Amino acid sequence: MSSYDVAVIGAGPGGYVAAIRSAQLGFKTVIIEKNKLGGTCLNVGCIPSKALLDSSHHYHDAVKHFAEHGIEIDAPKVNFGQMITRKQGVIDQTVSGIKYLMDKNKIDVLEGTGAFKDATHIVVTAADGSTQEIEAKYTIIATGSVSSELPFAPTDGKRIITSTEALELPEVPKHLIVIGGGVIGLELGSVYLRLGSEVTVVEYADRVIPGMDGALSKELTKILKKQGMKFHTSTGVTSVTNNGDNVTLTATSKKGEDLTIEGDYALVAVGRRAFTGSLGLENVGIEVDERGRIKTNGHLQTNVANIYAIGDVVAGAMLAHKAEEEGTLVAEFLAGQKPHINYNLIPGVVYTWPEVAGVGQTEEQLKEAGIEYKSGSFKFAALGRARASMDTDGFVKVLADKNTDEILGMHIIGARAADLIAEGVTAMEFRASAEDLTRMSHAHPTFSEAIKEAALAATDNRAIHA
Ligand SMILES: Cc1cc2nc3c(=O)[nH]c(=O)nc-3n(C[C@H](O)[C@H](O)[C@H](O)COP(=O)(O)OP(=O)(O)OC[C@H]3O[C@@H](n4cnc5c(N)ncnc54)[C@H](O)[C@@H]3O)c2cc1C
Repeated sequence: MSSYDVAVIGAGPGGYVAAIRSAQLGFKTVIIEKNKLGGTCLNVGCIPSKALLDSSHHYHDAVKHFAEHGIEIDAPKVNFGQMITRKQGVIDQTVSGIKYLMDKNKIDVLEGTGAFKDATHIVVTAADGSTQEIEAKYTIIATGSVSSELPFAPTDGKRIITSTEALELPEVPKHLIVIGGGVIGLELGSVYLRLGSEVTVVEYADRVIPGMDGALSKELTKILKKQGMKFHTSTGVTSVTNNGDNVTLTATSKKGEDLTIEGDYALVAVGRRAFTGSLGLENVGIEVDERGRIKTNGHLQTNVANIYAIGDVVAGAMLAHKAEEEGTLVAEFLAGQKPHINYNLIPGVVYTWPEVAGVGQTEEQLKEAGIEYKSGSFKFAALGRARASMDTDGFVKVLADKNTDEILGMHIIGARAADLIAEGVTAMEFRASAEDLTRMSHAHPTFSEAIKEAALAATDNRAIHA
């Protein structure tokens, strides 16, 4: 039987980062994966969705903006099969990069499902049913999550689908119904909207991207409506039926109005739930919370002292970069270091166009907590760089403590918000004030100038270009 210092179960961004950091720190490490290296993120999540978002964005640009730029082409056509093929190529290349990193760091990779026999022994069952047992001093569970289901809209993988099938449809739908106006629903809805589908979003809450700052939600709704997306907020789905070659959805609004929508696919995008099936948690007595997430303490240690858990399978934001930070934290903790994660500074991003990104506290959270704050906003439309690229939608909002001027939140909707938010994370990690941002040189012309201007607006309302 092989013996390891660290065994990692699940090779998504949490697991493979935990394995690499463990190996870097000198631990003899093994990673166990039942499916493909890279997990949800690389295979059916972050990477494929961004590949399709980029392809559809190019097409949309060609149709809508090329002529104004002075580029004349015959009407562009969508070759959806090629888009899916390119997406798969991006996945394959990225996954093979993880294999390379495992080899480079001398991490053993075991293909199969890992299940606890006891606290220090794991049985790995391969797809052909063969088994092998390993011994591990420490185990890090990183088994991620799966799509949540609605009892009255069970997915069938054909017409009533999850994000996984939506990344691989056989055709561009004529009408895609999206149940859930969160990040995944709006990103995949955007892909098909740009490719010519009618897209209708049904959301139970009174606004889309409910966890993000309200101003971002409002602006994104306005912009997506302008792009043609239809919304029914404050509306609860009551049934979805697969009729063979189309679907019928019924819903009721909170005002009591009944709604029936016909489409050719219904995408159920109502969140994800922790996945612990087949881990054999009962054999070691690991506790889960009321939502099935593995319970951990501040060091991500479970109630069994040598077993840790990270990423989507534990509480917190279901994001790849959060899972990565946790993977690093556990490995360093096992090595006797004192690592720390600032969970307030895990940025959230929506890769619609324009992109949406936020970090720190939202205005709603500050109000609820009774914290006195000041707010400064700046519109991209006032930036030369934004006009040059015709990306004038959106704004940056900086929230700072009214008394100390410390930045408490940054919220961006606009071109490249996903990358721009890193400035907010950096500033807040170093506990910068809004004035600090105003005194830093921002290259001209760039989208980042909107951050400086928003910080100026928050500092005595003295934006220069507004
Ligand atoms: C469509 C979509 C788009 C997304 N876009 C983004 C994005 O842009 N940015 C972002 O930050 N996040 C995004 N996410 C979320 C992101 O994918 C997850 O937060 C991230 O993958 C979580 O990482 P993880 O390591 O915890 O788990 P996962 O990536 O889910 O990996 C878990 C792995 O464990 C394996 N496993 C499970 N049980 C066992 C077992 N018993 N034995 C062996 N292996 C096992 C699974 O096969 C899987 O490979 C997206 C998700 C989806 C669905």
